Amino acid sequence: MNTDRSERLYRRALGLIPGGVNSPVRAMRSIGRDPIFVERGEAAELIDVDGNRYLDYVCSWGALILGHADPDVTAAVREAAGRGTSYGAPTGGEVALAGEVTERFGSVELVRMVNSGTEASMSALRLARAATERDAVVKFAGSYHGHVDGLLAEAGSGLATGGIPASPGVTDAQTADTVVVPWNDTAAVEAALAARPVAAILAEPVPANMGVVVPAKGFLDFLREQADRHGALLILDEVISGFRVAQGGAQDLYGVDADLTVMGKVLGGGLPAAAYGGRRELMERVAPAGDVYQAGTLSGNPLAVAAGLATLVKLDAPAYGELGTLTGRLAAGLRDAAGDRPVQVVSVCGLLTVFFSAEPVRDFAGATACDLDAYARFCRALLDRGVYAPPSQFEAWFVSMAHDEAAVDRTIAAATDAFDQAFGSRRE
Ligand SMILES: *Cc1c(COP(=O)(O)O)cnc(C)c1O
Repeated sequence: MNTDRSERLYRRALGLIPGGVNSPVRAMRSIGRDPIFVERGEAAELIDVDGNRYLDYVCSWGALILGHADPDVTAAVREAAGRGTSYGAPTGGEVALAGEVTERFGSVELVRMVNSGTEASMSALRLARAATERDAVVKFAGSYHGHVDGLLAEAGSGLATGGIPASPGVTDAQTADTVVVPWNDTAAVEAALAARPVAAILAEPVPANMGVVVPAKGFLDFLREQADRHGALLILDEVISGFRVAQGGAQDLYGVDADLTVMGKVLGGGLPAAAYGGRRELMERVAPAGDVYQAGTLSGNPLAVAAGLATLVKLDAPAYGELGTLTGRLAAGLRDAAGDRPVQVVSVCGLLTVFFSAEPVRDFAGATACDLDAYARFCRALLDRGVYAPPSQFEAWFVSMAHDEAAVDRTIAAATDAFDQAFGSRRE
């Protein structure tokens, strides 16, 4: 695999951009190699600047559910760009997209668009605090809601205490109202809610930022019931699961309603767009309908809205049937390829993780206990064989509608060799 151009670009980038990249995981440091600079994408494939082709299971971290350069999305963006790229005034497209969102999410009556998932979760939390007149938020270890100061928190010393900063530059005050509990741990949630008044429980309903760790049976219902019992709001961060695991996201798949829903990634069809929404009376607290301030120069950007709309209209019920079947085929094939070695393959429609663990992974502690070096070897071996899996075990594999059975079978064949490399039992 030739990497001359990527290497040259990386050297130059290191002198101009922190770590050479505009978002950390792209640097591929956790699998011990240099980043791959991309030239273009074609459906399920990524082509790098040296001409290497890869089956792409990152798909812009889930934003590209239709794959790269989908002709309908591309045409919609071109058409929109011809009419101007931003107005700072409302458009019909925003109304249409809000309509598509509320049709899919039964719990969402009003929706406000922003530019990133970070902004959406920050704004939803502000609204929850305003509506409940409470400060604390309960979040789960290993879940990610963007780089909001108060949400970059690790578990503190006890459940009654707030979290501690997970990054330099985040102050103790900013994490003091963030209580971090283990995912799938009902007793910890109960204790946190009993300890102090809580504005919101904030959860990824299908956590996908510690690898995919599905909710234990009944856990989401438990969160709904606990939130109601304690007068807290349930905020479900569906930035990944929304429009992916089912037409109406995880709320549709698991039959649970959020008070506020955070969306992003697929919503923008590969352009920067995100949103938060919920019941009318709650969302009408947001300015200018209400008193909770939130604004954005490029919010509801016409190009992003066009890409989002062109994406959502193609995601009907049969599309999720296909995506689910394809994801299942990949998961089963990877499980077979791993054989009796200590590997757990977890999958939900459109999402998958390969954990190098003898035990099923239930929470962040389980995810961090995995053999990350084995994952790194596995991932490097896949790249050498033309499969671009997420360069971190803590990130999900994203299957798109542009992948097909042939692509999945090629992936499984590559994985058969890659597992040998990961476990040091090379057959070639
Ligand atoms: C990606 C992600 C975010 C942050 O979205 P950005 O657009 O990167 O700011 C928030 N929540 C979840 C669950 C995510 O996966």
